[in-house]
Amino acid sequence: MNADTIARLLIIYTGGTIGMAPREGDKTLVPMGFRELKSHIPEISKLNCDFDMHAFSPPIDSSNMSPAIWIQLAELIYEQYDHYDGFIILHGSDTMAFTASALSFMLHNLSKPVILTGSQLPIGEIRTDAKENIITAMEIAAARRAGKAIVPEVCIYFDYFLFRGNRTKKFNTESFEAFRSVNFPPLAEAGISIRYREQDILPHPGEPFAIHTHLDPGISVLKLFPGITPGVVESALSAPGVKAVIVESFGNGNTSTEPWFMGSLEKAIKRGMIVLDRTQCDGGSVALGRYESGAYLKKIGVTDGNDMTFETAVTKLMVLLGQNLPVDEVKKLLETSLKGELTENK
Ligand code: ASP
Repeated sequence: MNADTIARLLIIYTGGTIGMAPREGDKTLVPMGFRELKSHIPEISKLNCDFDMHAFSPPIDSSNMSPAIWIQLAELIYEQYDHYDGFIILHGSDTMAFTASALSFMLHNLSKPVILTGSQLPIGEIRTDAKENIITAMEIAAARRAGKAIVPEVCIYFDYFLFRGNRTKKFNTESFEAFRSVNFPPLAEAGISIRYREQDILPHPGEPFAIHTHLDPGISVLKLFPGITPGVVESALSAPGVKAVIVESFGNGNTSTEPWFMGSLEKAIKRGMIVLDRTQCDGGSVALGRYESGAYLKKIGVTDGNDMTFETAVTKLMVLLGQNLPVDEVKKLLETSLKGELTENK
């Protein structure tokens, strides 16, 4: 795109609170159509960019998000990639961090912004946060320097902050500050002007845009707690179709050192199961080897989840498992930063 031309954006409306209104009768929040949503925000026509819309029919509450819908989103962006300079995805906040993480691994060599946003209060409510979120997300998606997008990444914009999508988690159901990125700084902050931390933004790719559309959901999760029983551990490790288990461990990736527990993990790894150790703590990372249990986990072949969010661990595994790679290759890629999702060389 020429540096002086007006940016063209595609706004994809998937649903979520942002576009919900109380149903007559019981007042439950249900999704409204995009036309109605747009009528609440005439300001967007005044922004210095052109935009088109694509609305899901029907719009969904994001608790119904699924890998099949992530594939639809990736394919839509792929088909429309050459026609637009940036993409906005209006999405419910509940699973927005999963969708942003999934898309960060599905969209390859991205040179255009893909910004997800939503709101805590529906757009029709007087104190809504939806207007600021949409307007600033659009400004960021349209922003470029020397003809190139400033943020060629999948991001979440919410409550004055732009975050790398695969570093975020929904943190609060109540406050307007719904999202946090604990282990990585925000990519931009919106005040009177939008201040970008350009040193932290991913570089423009050298290769053409491509998408991954094979996802394998064969994952289980084992959240540890003192007193967990062998039956619960075994059911996570031997559920049908499961190729990888995310162990939500304590502190720096620690687990019980009881022989029955370590023995179960070791047997599963020998069968070809991927065991990814991710800490239950929101901040900081796994450090296998710092404590005795971690050193043993490393020895039996447990994979280090470093400082990845749960959302990233789930979606990165689905994308990697979907590529039918050898188990050792998947383990290596899990420990490597593919899209800035983990901190290498800590
Ligand atoms: N339940 C809604 C959703 O995720 C919540 C929201 O949009 O904030 O679709």
